[in-house]
Amino acid sequence: VFVAIFVGYLISKPIKKINDSAKLLALGKRDIVFDGNGYLEIEDLNNTLNYAVVELKKTEKLQKELLANISHDLKTPITLISGYAEMMKDIPEENTKENLELIVEECNRLNLLVNDLLELSRLQSKTTSFNDTLFNLTKLINDIVDRQSLLSEFEIKFNYDKECFICADEKRISQVIYNFITNAINYSKDIKKIVINQNINKNIVSISIKDFGIGISEEELELIWNRYYRVDKTHQRNIKGTGLGLSIVKEILDHYGYDYKVESIKDVGSTFTILIPISE
Ligand code: ADP
Repeated sequence: VFVAIFVGYLISKPIKKINDSAKLLALGKRDIVFDGNGYLEIEDLNNTLNYAVVELKKTEKLQKELLANISHDLKTPITLISGYAEMMKDIPEENTKENLELIVEECNRLNLLVNDLLELSRLQSKTTSFNDTLFNLTKLINDIVDRQSLLSEFEIKFNYDKECFICADEKRISQVIYNFITNAINYSKDIKKIVINQNINKNIVSISIKDFGIGISEEELELIWNRYYRVDKTHQRNIKGTGLGLSIVKEILDHYGYDYKVESIKDVGSTFTILIPISE
């Protein structure tokens, strides 16, 4: 009986210690270390729980950063809009077309940001539906290129041998291509040129969007797909971008399981490539 009680005590002591730490973790304490050692299984449990603490801390940090970013991005246009509106109300001479245009511009920016946030959150929580149909990808890209060439001063070249069809949500694929082209324009330098190549290899079509802009350093290549990641930290109020474009692109491409990559050389340019299975 004494041996049984002693062995029982030896086994339960580290478990009790782990249990106490787990209670503290549940109460929101994040600086705890699980150190109930003993049997191999208990040590395993310890390591798993310590890993959980690290991951929890990371998630909480990300959440805080996200909230800070959203608040910052929403606050700035709202402050500007209310400031200008107040001024126009109080000083009749300030009731000018330019000031009104500024208000409209800031409203558009807010709209863009809120839409992107909603879109990303729907994609991440998988609550959005994908409306897959068979469509002509080459024609879709051609249409986007025509539209973008009209709206910008860029020479956008699209090279392809033959038209190809894929089965996916046309609107979302258009969003992906549109995003890559917009980024190629936004992060350009002196050469106002973009080259899009379509290559078909067996049943896979590769679409690459090449720019001759500012490029991305090797360390940052992996990070640009994260939401709110911006290479240029001082570029916080980039008028066109919301910092969410590539995270939305990533969610869409991951949903379909398409391969994608980015190659870039700082100050030379970047090439974003996606590989999509062709549907006959
Ligand atoms: P943003 O709204 O800031 O453009 P994105 O998610 O589309 O947000 O891109 C994230 C970051 O990746 C950008 O802020 C930029 O630093 C970098 N980036 C994206 N595309 C390019 C590109 N073609 N050339 C250079 N940098 C790019």
